[in-house]
Amino acid sequence: MAGDEREKAHCLVVPAAAQGHFTPLLQFSKRLIPKRIRVTLALTRFIHSTMTVTAQSGIHIDTISDGFDHSGLILQDPEHYSQTFRRVGSETLTDLIRKQSESRHPVHCIIYDASMPWFLDVAKRFGIVGAAFLTQSCAVNAIYYHLREGTIKRPVVSDPAAGTLVIDGLPPLEVSDLPSFIWDDLHTEFLAAHLRQFSNDGADWVFCNTVYQLELEAVDWLTKQWLINFRTIGPTIPSFYLDKQIPDDKDYDISIFNPQNQTCMNWLQSKPDGSVVYVSFGSLARLSPQQTEELYFGLKNSNHYFLWVVRESEVAKLPKEEYLSGEKGLVVSWCSQLQVLASGKVGCFVTHCGWNSTLEALSLGVPMVAMPECGDQLTNAKFIKDVWKTGVRAEADDGKGIMWGMIKREVIERCIREVMEGEETRRNADKWGKIIKEAVVEGGSSDKNTEDFATSLINFAETFQFSC
Ligand code: UDP
Repeated sequence: MAGDEREKAHCLVVPAAAQGHFTPLLQFSKRLIPKRIRVTLALTRFIHSTMTVTAQSGIHIDTISDGFDHSGLILQDPEHYSQTFRRVGSETLTDLIRKQSESRHPVHCIIYDASMPWFLDVAKRFGIVGAAFLTQSCAVNAIYYHLREGTIKRPVVSDPAAGTLVIDGLPPLEVSDLPSFIWDDLHTEFLAAHLRQFSNDGADWVFCNTVYQLELEAVDWLTKQWLINFRTIGPTIPSFYLDKQIPDDKDYDISIFNPQNQTCMNWLQSKPDGSVVYVSFGSLARLSPQQTEELYFGLKNSNHYFLWVVRESEVAKLPKEEYLSGEKGLVVSWCSQLQVLASGKVGCFVTHCGWNSTLEALSLGVPMVAMPECGDQLTNAKFIKDVWKTGVRAEADDGKGIMWGMIKREVIERCIREVMEGEETRRNADKWGKIIKEAVVEGGSSDKNTEDFATSLINFAETFQFSC
């Protein structure tokens, strides 16, 4: 292959158009480069034109179209969005493969978000390798697989005798521990997107952003059922926070929001180690004004320092209290969450349990207070509390996520105190942090899976002849 002599094969990496989906693919790409793979990240034109991309890591960037170059992902009509992305995305990806291959860099593989299985058809048309990438936990994927197979049926009800769902590969679950898309009837296209992931039966590889040791029963079960080449390669967190083997890999390099890093780090520096409650609900979750107020009083009454990320779109919901910008609390619109979690100052992370946030807290050994909103966050909260035991769950008054129920200030205060002032969740968080780091160092479970893929791809590239 022309270009850098070290590059022995070329992957096009196609993420879905949401921050929580493209950062894992970008980070996985960074792990491939030292393994002699050239990587071109194919971003949608909209994302490319609106986001700050600061990649220093040798990744090449090019664009395709989702059909919405000026507006991007339309959350109001996700079905229309997916159908258009399928058609326009397949055409423009085909053009990109031809362009790359004719200009000295033949493409040998497409790694694509598993919710867009139509890109596997593009790979097969060119006779190249297709690798699907799952961005959620393996347990969540196993639950969706059960739904596809009919071992979980909609509408979902628990066994009234047992009071729980007992299904292979998973711990006993309440209905409210399942991804809400299965029972809430509000997110039918999101549910369809998750089920679509299993249309990747013909993929040469299926990667999951998790660590084998974190959910080995679910990984073993799904691997056996699905009969695909299923591999765990996570966590997709910058090397600096894990194994420090990839120079300059200190950040996610792409962000939709502008972080107020200096303000955060200056404020944190003046606080004792482990004394700060960090609060963030990720890039999408929206709390009601009443829930925002309950959270504020829960934080205030716990009497601990807090650093609270409130996105600009949410600021109007904050109570007008002077205390918010006082000595005890700092509110910012965005921060580098990794830097904050790794600062040593954070004693507890109040989180909506997005999978990336969950993996980050587990990797950096930070215990959590789980306040899931909807979707897979409910299942992640279950694992945080009952499987890894690295946190507690602040229960909403109706036992579901905060999209439906309300978590009262007393519950939030009690949970924060339990984590900040207790020992057990911290001890477990330390333990899991070490296990995760071992998975990514050379020879660890995730590193080995990545190495197997790179070796196999290089072998493929040696004999592959590109033809249009
Ligand atoms: N994040 C960040 N700064 C913030 C809040 C969040 O960098 O102030 C990042 C966080 O590190 C994580 C991502 O945003 O990587 C959120 O992803 P997650 O899957 O947890 O939730 P989502 O935004 O998809 O709901």
